[in-house]
Amino acid sequence: MSYIVTRQKYWPNGDKVVEITSGGRDSIGPDALVEKYPGEWEEFDDPNEALDAARIIHNLWYDVDKDILGIGIGDTWGGSLPLEPTDPRDEALDRWAKVQFDALERCDHCGEIFRDNERFCDIELGIDFGMFCSEYCCAEAYEKEINDE
Ligand SMILES: [Zn+2]
Repeated sequence: MSYIVTRQKYWPNGDKVVEITSGGRDSIGPDALVEKYPGEWEEFDDPNEALDAARIIHNLWYDVDKDILGIGIGDTWGGSLPLEPTDPRDEALDRWAKVQFDALERCDHCGEIFRDNERFCDIELGIDFGMFCSEYCCAEAYEKEINDE
């Protein structure tokens, strides 16, 4: 799963909102504007990073257009449902990012979240001893597994 930040101009009333959607590219609302600021259309594995990017994009956009309504969070599943905008300074956004982050799957060895949809496990060993963020963590966990026996 990844988070994507886009600028939206909702049809038909033209409401302008910075969206963070969490279902990958299919979840982006259909009224997305073309990329203009750094971080737009990028996929973030960490919701905190997505939120940081959304706030920066919101501020840059607001500098040239005072009609920006805020940051909307959710998932439109590519539908045309507008997301409710929240003031970018609102701590509710940080709470959302924390809850999301805490719920992410993690490496069984180091506890890091998975990046770029990559997971490692040594299936050749024929044993299931976990999913790991890197080959390094996989090897370390295997080493530990052997030494524990
Ligand atoms: Zn790891």
